[in-house]
Amino acid sequence: MASRAIVIGPANYARDSGIASHPEIAHSARMYGQVLGSDPRWGPEAVEVLPPEQLTTINDVMGAVQSAADQAEPGDTLLVVYIGHGAYWADVPGDQVHFAVGSSRLRQPHTWMSSWYVYRAMRRSRASLKVLIADCCYSNMLPQLSAEGTLRGVLGIVHEGTCVLTATKNDRNAADAAGCPRLPADLQECTPFSGHLLNVLTRGTKHYNDEVTLGLMLDVVQEDMQRCGTPHDLPNMILNGGREGMPLFTNRMSPPDRERMPSAPASAEEWVETMKREGAQGFDRLLNDPVITGQVVSLLYQQSEEAVRHIALRVNKRANQHFDRPELFAQYWAEVGPTLSA
Ligand SMILES: [Zn+2]
Repeated sequence: MASRAIVIGPANYARDSGIASHPEIAHSARMYGQVLGSDPRWGPEAVEVLPPEQLTTINDVMGAVQSAADQAEPGDTLLVVYIGHGAYWADVPGDQVHFAVGSSRLRQPHTWMSSWYVYRAMRRSRASLKVLIADCCYSNMLPQLSAEGTLRGVLGIVHEGTCVLTATKNDRNAADAAGCPRLPADLQECTPFSGHLLNVLTRGTKHYNDEVTLGLMLDVVQEDMQRCGTPHDLPNMILNGGREGMPLFTNRMSPPDRERMPSAPASAEEWVETMKREGAQGFDRLLNDPVITGQVVSLLYQQSEEAVRHIALRVNKRANQHFDRPELFAQYWAEVGPTLSA
């Protein structure tokens, strides 16, 4: 089993292009290379950070994506990371988000790389887990494609191991590139979202898992950005079509520093108490059981505190994705349906 990651971070644009050059983009790309390169799940051979000369044209960038997608085998993970400028035109066919490359020009869609190209190459790949991390403006419009059914079409079917992870920006036009001074020195010059994500990967998490799964990463990065003293345009990371329990990175916190694995199996009531106390971080194990999951969501949803009800909705969202086999979903819904539809 091998993994392949392509990191795309075009930082420099022509002076008269109308697009701002940000050194933070290039630095983030380099740091993805370093952090993934030192992760035993990846290693230097598995990660390709496109050099500046390969970031100028759509052809060069897509060539690298296509080649990584073609080389991946069943069992592999294919990760595409894009850091840079995003654009969105409602009047191009299919409302696609577009990614900037070095030769892009402001307000000229034909000079930007359509996200559809990236999706298509990933869809055709034989990799078992395919993840796109998009750190750019308008990245929130990527999952919206799915909600409208377009992504489903683009990806053919919603494959169990396909996921789009985006840093949704509240202000879609904000070029939130300036680094976060609260991060460790080598990550301060990254864009805030990538800086915090890489911080979590470097430091690891207290969660008992040996791996950082998609779901765990979502929780921990969100927490890291919320807790950070710098007022960030907070990301609303969206996991789209992926299994939250799928491992993507190594948890680098040494085992003695982590929390002990809670004794299992926990009853619905025990789960509820734990989540009210500690939040919904890392509830992957709960999802092993559709009945208990349904009971937990139902109990949480009936609490008066807004924050607790929010946890219920979050778990429900993941459960809807997770229990994609009709018989499992039926078991889940039998417990939670009456409460949520009330
Ligand atoms: Zn921060």
